[in-house]
Amino acid sequence: MKLKVSELYLGFQNKVFEISSKNLADRGIVYKKEIIIAKLSLIKEKNCFCLNGNLETTVEYDCVRCLKKNPNKINIPINILIFEKTMEHQTRNDREIIYFNKSNDYVNLKSIFSDLIALAEPIQPLCDKKCTGLCPTCGIEKTNSCNCNKRTVFTAWDKLKDLQI
Ligand SMILES: [Zn+2]
Ligand SMILES: [Zn+2]
Repeated sequence: MKLKVSELYLGFQNKVFEISSKNLADRGIVYKKEIIIAKLSLIKEKNCFCLNGNLETTVEYDCVRCLKKNPNKINIPINILIFEKTMEHQTRNDREIIYFNKSNDYVNLKSIFSDLIALAEPIQPLCDKKCTGLCPTCGIEKTNSCNCNKRTVFTAWDKLKDLQI
C-alpha cells in the first residue's frame, strides 16, 4: 500500500482502496480474504498530512481454548499523521506518525497498516465467549458430548482411596 507523494498535496475524500494482503508486511496474520478495503481521506494540515478513515478485513484467529480457527471481521480506525522527513521528530500519543522523504515518489503505508492489523488481535482470542475449550482427558470439545469432567473427579478420589489402603 503506497500513496503517491503528489497525491498527498492534492488530498482526497472517502477514497476506497483495495489493498492486497500480499502487499502488506508479514506479521503472522492469517487473512481470510485477500483484499482489504480501506476507506480513507487525506487532508493537508499546516505542517503535515492527516490520513483518516478505516480499514476493513477478515482475519483468522486461533481460539485459545479450543484451538479452532475462527474468522473475525475487523474494522480498524485509521488516524495517521504523515510528516515530511525534514520535520523534527514529532511525538503524539493520540495518533500514529509516519515520515516520508520528498525525494521519493511514494509514501509506504505497508508497515503501519500491517502493525495496526496485528495490534487489533485480542490477547486471548476466543471463538465464542462461552467456549468451554477442549477436554484435557479426551481432547473433545467439552460442549460436545464429553462426560469426562465427572469421571476425572471420581478418578482422583479413587486414587486417594488406593493410597489410604
Ligand atoms: Zn473456542
Ligand atoms: Zn472429555
